[in-house]
This record gives sequence, structure tokens and C-alpha cells, in this order.
Amino acid sequence: MAKTHHTRVLIIGSGPAGWSAAIYAARAALKPIVVQGIQPGGQLTTTTDVENYPGFRDIIQGPWLMDEMQAQAEHVGTQVIYDIITYVDFSRRPFQAVADSGDIFIADAVIIATGAQAKWLGLESETLMQGKGVSACATCDGFFYRGKKVAVIGGGNTAVEEALYMTNHSQDVTLIHRRDTLRAEKILQDRLFAHPHIHILWNKKVERFVGGGDPEGLVAIDLRDTVTGAPSQIAVDGGFVAIGHDPATAIFKGQVELDTDGYVAVTPGTTRTSVSGVFACGDVMDRHYRQAVTAAGTGCMAALDAERYLAAADFAATA
Ligand code: FAD
Ligand code: NAP
Repeated sequence: MAKTHHTRVLIIGSGPAGWSAAIYAARAALKPIVVQGIQPGGQLTTTTDVENYPGFRDIIQGPWLMDEMQAQAEHVGTQVIYDIITYVDFSRRPFQAVADSGDIFIADAVIIATGAQAKWLGLESETLMQGKGVSACATCDGFFYRGKKVAVIGGGNTAVEEALYMTNHSQDVTLIHRRDTLRAEKILQDRLFAHPHIHILWNKKVERFVGGGDPEGLVAIDLRDTVTGAPSQIAVDGGFVAIGHDPATAIFKGQVELDTDGYVAVTPGTTRTSVSGVFACGDVMDRHYRQAVTAAGTGCMAALDAERYLAAADFAATA
């Protein structure tokens, strides 16, 4: 039977942003509820080695890190519910959210931490080779390709930034783009064109990521010319798909202000959204950094912003 939950702070999402917000909110005695969503632990549960989260000299595993964050959040007093929020109403106070199970959440403050997902090309070989040479995050996985040949797919800012970033590790970086002009900003294009270790393959679309060796790893990418239709192949050890991200904000449309790409808009330097009492943290509001540590950092900020908001609201109610 559907239940109604009352909470001071409802946190939607259980990635690094959600858990960090929960740890801070619980330690401020706000008894937060985290609704985990369809991917408990968030994006890091889809990877293995994490080498850049501070505090660990040895390589740690993404799913393990997320289990530890959840355990810490529960230890300090977070209630965790496995459900998916399907509807929110931020026009009424207290705020209301409805979950897939039919449960209703009534909250004085809400923290949106629903993250974002990398867009993929949608090829079967792409799915098969993920974690074996195909990745959507150069900042996360680039380190594993030191001295190797890599390709970045895409023509926007993300692709150009990833290609430039990869030159820190590789002297043989190829950008593969489906047209003959880039969408990226001029200043990034200038840097890309001037870089001696980056080659560009224009008018090429990826047809297949080719695996080989034992253990299996990426060895080549099959391409097709989008103008002539001619097939070709490029030998590479790593392929980075950089064709954009989709923030998980469908349920927030019309409830809080979103930017033109669907990210939750926040007041710069804070996690405050267009609705007083609703805060956003992590990849759902950050198109630039998209790292576990930055998500955790803004999660902390969201809890502190929520705590201050609730303290001011409590003071106003008793004054
Ligand atoms: P996410 O981790 O995306 O979590 C979002 C959460 O929201 C999920 O729990 C989901 O279930 C929940 N949710 C969504 N919609 C709803 C809903 N309607 N109701 C309830 N819950 C909902 N970063 C690093 O720093 N180092 C790395 O090595 C690294 N490696 C990566 C490897 C891969 C393969 C990927 C994909 C990403 C990697 N990243 C890495 C990036 C990092 O994972 C993200 O930046 C980080 O997870 C973002 O955290 P988040 O909490 O904002 O969102
Ligand atoms: P984007 O601007 O939407 O660019 C996506 C690129 O991927 C485009 O070049 C597109 O090709 C290509 N693409 C899309 N689907 C494809 C497919 N199926 N096959 C092959 N190629 C495909 O995405 P983004 O680069 O992630 O940027 C998103 C937003 O974030 C932009 O507003 C951007 O300015 C911003 N951003 C800013 C910075 C920064 O300021 N430093 C950094 C990163 C992102 P076409 O060009 O042919 O459509």
C-alpha cells in the first residue's frame, strides 16, 4: 500500500552528489530521505577502476566507492528508499513528489541530484567494447591510454576538449567527425587545429568498434565516409565517444528553470534553483566538470544551502 513520507529534506538521486548531500544533511540533524532511482549509486557503478577520487592511493572500484558513500550516509541517519520519483510539484509548500510505487513524499526542501548520462552512438559493438577500449569519459579513463593511439568521436566542445585533454597522454589523437565543420567554439577549434598531435578525419561516421587480442581490447574502428560512402578503418587502442550528455531532468520541466540543454539552472556559485527551497547538485547542474569529486562537492554545497534555507524559514515562522 502506498505510503506518505514527511521529511525536512528530500534528496532525489543516489550518486556521489546525492550521498554527499545526505551525509551533510543528516549530520545537520535534518533526517534526510534519499530516493535512489533506477541506478542506485549512479554512474560510478557502471565502471571499474577509479583512480582520481581523493583519499585513496590504491586503485578503487566505482561500485565499492558508492557502497561506502551509502553506508556512511545511512550511518549518520539517512533514510534510503529504493524507488523512482515520477512527478514533482514545486508550486506548493511543503513540496510534493510522487514515486513509481505510488508513495508520496512531502518535503520542506528538495535536493535534485539526478545526474546525467553520456549519449552513445547506439552501435552493438559500442556496448560490447565498453570497458575494453570504448569510453565516454576521457578525463576518467584517458590515463589508461598513455603512449597509445586514441580517437575521439564528435564535433562539439566536449569532443574538442576531450581530444585536447588526450594529448596529455597520447601523441596520436584522431578526432572523427561526421561533417566537415565543427560545432565547437572558435577558440577551441583554433587550439585543436594548431595541435601537432591531433589529426582530424572529416565526414566520417563510426560503423563498428573492432575488438581483438587476448584479453580482448579495441584494435580498430570501421568508418564510412558520409559524403562518398567509402569504407575505411583506423587502428586505435582507445575510442572516446563525446557526442554530448543528457541531464535527467524530464520530471522537472515546468517546475524549475532549465537551461537550453536541459540542465537545472542554478544561481552561479550556489546550488539554488529558480524555486526557493529547491537545490540542485552534481552532473544535473554541471555540464563542464562531470566528475565524482565535483558532484560530491556540490552535493555538500546543496545540503549547506538547504540547511540555511530551512533555518531561515524556521526563524521566520517563529518570529
Ligand atoms: P549520477 O552518478 O549520474 O547519479 C544520478 C542518480 O540519480 C542515480 O542514482 C539515479 O538512479 C538517480 N536518479 C535519476 N533520476 C531519478 C529519479 N527520477 N528518481 C530518483 N532517482 C533518480 N568520475 C570521476 O571522478 N572519476 C572516474 O574515474 C569516473 N569514471 C566514470 C566512468 C564512467 C563509465 C562514467 C559513466 C562516469 C565516470 N565518472 C567518473 C563520472 C562520474 O561518475 C559522474 O560525474 C558522477 O557520478 C556524477 O554524480 P551525480 O551524483 O551527479 O550523478
Ligand atoms: P553538442 O554541442 O551537442 O555536440 C555534439 C557533437 O556530437 C556534434 O558535433 C554532433 O555532430 C556530434 N554528434 C551527435 N550525435 C552524433 C552521432 N550519433 N554520431 C556522430 N556524431 C554525433 O554537445 P557537447 O559538445 O557535449 O556540448 C553540449 C553543450 O555543452 C554545448 O552547449 C556546449 O557549448 C557546452 N559545453 C561547453 C564547454 C565549454 O564551455 N568549455 C565544454 C563542454 C560542453 P553535428 O555537429 O553534426 O550535429
